[in-house]
Amino acid sequence: MYCIKCGVELRDSEKVCPLCKTLVFHPEMPLPDGEKPYPEYVAPVKRFNRFGTLFVLSFVFLIPALITLLIDLKINSAVVWSGYVIGGLVVGYVAAVLPFWFKHPNPVIFIPCTGAAAMLFLLYICLATHGRWFLPLAFPISGIATLLITAVTALLKYLKRGKLYVIGGASIALGGFSILIEMFICITFKARFVFWSVYPFAACLLVGLLLITIAVCKPLRRTLDKRFFI
Ligand SMILES: [Zn+2]
Repeated sequence: MYCIKCGVELRDSEKVCPLCKTLVFHPEMPLPDGEKPYPEYVAPVKRFNRFGTLFVLSFVFLIPALITLLIDLKINSAVVWSGYVIGGLVVGYVAAVLPFWFKHPNPVIFIPCTGAAAMLFLLYICLATHGRWFLPLAFPISGIATLLITAVTALLKYLKRGKLYVIGGASIALGGFSILIEMFICITFKARFVFWSVYPFAACLLVGLLLITIAVCKPLRRTLDKRFFI
């Protein structure tokens, strides 16, 4: 008889290995009623502390914000450039840390939150630099981008089937979005419409149509499944 863990030779009377204290397993010896021939499995205790990590991460964002604010106030006696740093940190915090304070973060809620934070940050930059580009350019573009990403995320999350249609449709919408971006840029800066957006639109349209064709045509999908294991 040998120890199952360390391999040391054991006497038949031994119940526990004298060297490594592992329970001795005798496959041929009768066991008392109810006793299992192997030790109970004890699940390892999770040592990851979510809230502790989130507190540390919050300080990682808070400390540079405070330091930049203090330096700015010391040099300029006003918020001159630290506002941009703090705004960027706030947007980063809303995007990367805030959702994890919740037990089951829902991207359909947190993507619009991040979009709103980014829009407010852009508004701040626009006002601080006396720009006129927020309403005609930054607001519609960031608003449409947020809506698009939220809609695609929601559809992918809640639809059981038809994900290829969603991704194909999203690709076409992205192409259309590039035309809108060029339009908003032309309106804001009174530039000439040079149709650069036609190229990304055409590429996105092709990818979208290809995905939808694959989704529609079942034999084609099966062949691709077999070939690429998707
Ligand atoms: Zn042993």
